[in-house]
Amino acid sequence: MKARTRFAPSPTGYMHIGNLRTALYEYLIAKSGGGDFLLRIEDTDQKRYVEGATDIIYSTLKTVGMNWDEGPDIGGNYGPYVQSERKPIYAEYAHKLVELGGAHYCFCAPKEESEDDEAEENAVPAKFQDPCKRLSLEEARARIAAGEPFTVRQTINKKGKSRFHDEVYGDIEIDYDDLDEGVLLKTDGFPTYNFANVIDDHLMEITHVVRGNEYISSTPKYNLIYETFGWTPPVYVHVPQVMKDAQHKLSKRNGDASFQDLVAKGYLPEAILNYIALLGWNPGDDREIFSLSELEKAFSVERLNKSPAIFDIVKLTWMNGCYIRELSAEDFHRLALPYYQKCLTRSLDLAALSKVLQPRIETLADIAAQTDFLEQLPDYDLALFENKKMKTDRDIANNALRLVAALLPQVEPWSNENLFEQLKKLAADNGLKNGQVLYPVRIALSGRETTSGGATELAAILGREESLARINVALQRLGEQG
Ligand code: GLU
Repeated sequence: MKARTRFAPSPTGYMHIGNLRTALYEYLIAKSGGGDFLLRIEDTDQKRYVEGATDIIYSTLKTVGMNWDEGPDIGGNYGPYVQSERKPIYAEYAHKLVELGGAHYCFCAPKEESEDDEAEENAVPAKFQDPCKRLSLEEARARIAAGEPFTVRQTINKKGKSRFHDEVYGDIEIDYDDLDEGVLLKTDGFPTYNFANVIDDHLMEITHVVRGNEYISSTPKYNLIYETFGWTPPVYVHVPQVMKDAQHKLSKRNGDASFQDLVAKGYLPEAILNYIALLGWNPGDDREIFSLSELEKAFSVERLNKSPAIFDIVKLTWMNGCYIRELSAEDFHRLALPYYQKCLTRSLDLAALSKVLQPRIETLADIAAQTDFLEQLPDYDLALFENKKMKTDRDIANNALRLVAALLPQVEPWSNENLFEQLKKLAADNGLKNGQVLYPVRIALSGRETTSGGATELAAILGREESLARINVALQRLGEQG
């Protein structure tokens, strides 16, 4: 039997890394066996609805290449795929569940209902002793017919232990007494998550459900609903939450929790996806770099694990550097351009700059700090010209820069390679070591002790005019020193 999995995000305005990882595992379970991956929008909690949030979900999945086989925008045989468009379906099944004894009508004050709603958002069972449970079905129906607002609440009469199997956490036992009789259908006719997920997963013939382990404690409630209807529950795959450290969840507040935040910080979508695949799954060997299609081949549910998934930005940054280096020169340049446009206004040889940066940066956001001296020569200390290793001091620098300033107007073509040859020749002709020429030039061009790129690379990027101007600034300052 082919797997059918679904990604069921709530449109809250951003894509949490943990949710994207859930989507990835759902996708991989489906695709590793030629199955279907569905997208379902869970917008029944209208208070949390954020305008435009669905577009973020679409664009994130598309950006990382996780295409869905059925969904709100492309349809499918099991639609609608947006929960707010399925209200009549939930109402029908809620009334059926009451008839079957798995739920009851409740007329308690909305306050209790909303408290329950919040409890459910946290997926923590809250005890609620409902007096309406004692009402007969006839009484309840008469009150509904008279126009009284009502909810449908789950009825839990079972005693003892609920048992179920989870692919990651193994066999789980939860006491029925620990479950609350939560609201399934609200007064406004919207279902709660606790009801809608069961109805939809059944009707959409979902075979595997992947979700955060915070849902484990509610799973017996879902199983009771499946059981009452005589349906088979899906295979459960609960995954540990993505943590910032051992104690804290990764939250939007610290700025690393959302896919968009990471992309804005210069991380590549492919690297983010690769990294999050490993947050709870391993291939069984040392391999770490996987494209999405390689993951499809390597993935298996058995290798998901329940140890806490700590989001390690240092590891992601390293991995991002690996992806940056794997890009073609053209792709790197195309991705770097918007960053250049943000921080560089002077006319530079940007293709030459890309060549220098691609092997040396880990995120695209590093570009700003690596190029600020190109935009404006910083005010630097002349002591920088003194370097034992390079065998330079201010006099040697002064002399070398004078020779270079005289040479540069004739250098043709103005390229890193040619400049390098010409400066080496100039050093040899004047009895200097290469470093005694190249080092002072690099300081004069950058004003910095360390730079991405050597003297001639910087000269190629800056162009002849600006390079000469900067060398003349150095000469003037060294001269003034006397
Ligand atoms: N809408 C739920 C969430 O975003 C989905 C949970 C599930 O996959 O069942 O947490």
